[in-house]
Formats: sequence, C-alpha cells, structure tokens
Amino acid sequence: MAERTYFDWNATAPLRPEARAAMLAALDGCANASSVHSEGRAARQIIENARLNVATLVGAGARNVIFTSGATEANVLALTPALEAGGRKAARGRLFVSAVEHPSVASGGRFAPEQVEVLPVDGDGVVDLAALRAAMARAEQPLVSVMLANNETGVVQPIAAIAAIVHEAGGLLHVDAVQGVGRTDCDMAGLGIDLLTLSSHKLGGPQGAGALILRDDLHIAEPLITGGGQERGRRAGTENVAAIAGFGAACAAASAAMQADAPRMGALRDRIEAGIRNATPQAVIFGQGAARLPNTTLVAVPGLKAETALIAFDLDGLALSSGSACSSGKVQASSVLSAMGVEPALARGALRISIGPTTTDNEVDALLLAWNRVVSSLLKKQTDIAA
Ligand code: PMP
Repeated sequence: MAERTYFDWNATAPLRPEARAAMLAALDGCANASSVHSEGRAARQIIENARLNVATLVGAGARNVIFTSGATEANVLALTPALEAGGRKAARGRLFVSAVEHPSVASGGRFAPEQVEVLPVDGDGVVDLAALRAAMARAEQPLVSVMLANNETGVVQPIAAIAAIVHEAGGLLHVDAVQGVGRTDCDMAGLGIDLLTLSSHKLGGPQGAGALILRDDLHIAEPLITGGGQERGRRAGTENVAAIAGFGAACAAASAAMQADAPRMGALRDRIEAGIRNATPQAVIFGQGAARLPNTTLVAVPGLKAETALIAFDLDGLALSSGSACSSGKVQASSVLSAMGVEPALARGALRISIGPTTTDNEVDALLLAWNRVVSSLLKKQTDIAA
C-alpha cells in the first residue's frame, strides 16, 4: 500500500510501544487474576500496577478505579439512579446531560427517558452555565454528565465551574474525559469531578478496555454486570489482563509525556488551521471561540460534502474523519453541530482532523498539500456541475 498518513486519532490512537510491550508480556502469562497460585498472583499484580497508573493519570486513588470493557460501558455504569455518596441511600431522580455528549451518555444510561434532561450549549458548544444553574435550582439530588472535551470539535468544557454549580445544588458530576485526558490537564479532585470515564484506545492503549473512576466516598449500589466478585463486586467477569496491562502502560506513558506533547500538538494544529485558512479562506472552523484541545480541528468548506472529501483524501493516502468516529460510518448530520446551531448544509461538510503525539511536520505538510489539491478539485467539479 502507498504511504498512509493518519489524522484520525480521536477515533482511535495508534498503539503506544509501551502498551504493546506490556500486552505481549501479559499475554505470555497464563492465569486468572482471581486464582491464589503464583501465576494468579502475578496476573493480579499486573492489574494492580495498571490500576495505579490509570489512577495517577487523573490524580485519583487506585482503589477507586473500576476496569470496564471501554468508555461506553463505564458511562452506562456511571449513569444510574443508584449512586450513593457518603453512605447515604437516596435515589437520584434526574439526570442532566449536555447537548454535545457522546451517544453512550446522551442515551441516559440506566435512567428512564423521562428522567433525562438535556442542557443547552452555546454556538461554540460550551455548556450554558445560566441554563445549568436554572436546571439545578429545580432538581433534587441531580446527577449531571458533561464531557471534558468534545470528540468532534475538541472544545473543552469549564468543568471546575460546572462542578461548583452542581455541588451547590447537592448534585454529583460525571465527566466523560475520554478525549481530554492526556491532552489537557485533568485532576479529578482539583476540577471537582465525582465520577470520571476513561477509554484505553484514545490514549494509545488497546481497544476494549476502559475505566470508571469514583470519588472516594461514592458507591454504585447497582452494578451493571453482576456475577463473580471481580472489581470488588462492582464489575463482574474475569479481567482481560493483557488489555488492562496495555491500558495502564498507555496511561503511564501519557502522564510522562503530556506536558511536552500538548504544546507540540498545538503548534502543529495551528499550522494545519493556518494552512487551511490560507488555501480556503471561506472555511469555517468550529468551536474557535472556546478553549479547545491542542489536537483537534473540525472544519467545513461551504459547498463541500464531507463524504466526497473523505473518499478523495483516502485515495490520496490520508485518513480523516467526518465528525464523530461513531457516526462516521453512517451518513448522518452531527448532533453536536446541530446543538451548536450550525446550518445542516454546512454541518454535512464537517471534516475532522485529529492528531497525536507522534504526528510530524512532514505529515502536516502532506495534509496541507492534499488539502490544496483535493479541496480545490472538488470545489471546481461542483462549480462545473452547477454551471
Ligand atoms: N466518549 C467519548 C467522548 C468518545 O469519543 C468515545 C469513543 N468514540 C466514547 C465515549 C466511547 O469509548 P469506547 O470506544 O471505549 O467505548
């Protein structure tokens, strides 16, 4: 295959070498981590080391990490009326989710549809704090779920301010931090997060592993998966030792490298956006008025259809995405852009370019060259058809 360039890190990040090495080592051991023999204890040790690495990435205590099959499961595990804080048993009657959440949060987890309310966002996709305050004033023991950073736009939410409003109302805050962690600072206690979701494969670990991390005194009275007593009764099923090992190693690598990686990615992202503006001054970059991750650009050129552009870029050797990974296989308008009030015609043209720690200057050069070639030829074709 001709040389390929990968600009779809928000869909999945390439496996970090540290994660690969940890997984291979774990695969060579053969044991159930619940077994008492030496082999079992070795597998248990691998899991507990990984638990510490995952917790450290977000400044949490290792014992509060529950390993899951991924962020989707962690989100559904978190979003339950049966959440107890400080030993108090009182069902949470209402869930509030922002209008730009991932489908695994937007679907409301284990709340009935009539118990779920959507919090509006502004034109940049940032949660409307006045609307949040108003919603909290009429809710008793609410659970609120707002993501750290959006998978399509990269827009970062003001989590500390949101947490303060939610806590003042006696509520709990769940944060889907899948896209933000490793790219922007995320200290659970510092930001006031009560429950936090992580996904291994967005951090350079394997797919199929994730975690829900709880504030110290929180308890989920109804686990999502019941059976054996794994994860201290909070998530049954024999642990996927190799995947967890890779997840832990990816978290350790991300912790060590983030302070250097984030500004480097930010500089490349700025170069991408400057190049796009230069070639196509009519391009619209979404969420520009808000704080954004250093690795994500969501852009549309009026008159350009995302599906056509994606195929053209793919033929040119570049892997891009149209909005969210989960919906990019389907031809569907982005609910994130719709919540931001973007015209459907423009939203249908949204292309997501997402980079990572190993993205190079040469790859950005290749992208910008391809942008000039592909976009000008597609726009010309469309004008020819219209003429
Ligand atoms: N939340 C966000 C913000 C995501 O981007 C994704 C992955 N697209 C998920 C949750 C789901 O993660 P997983 O693939 O681990 O289930």
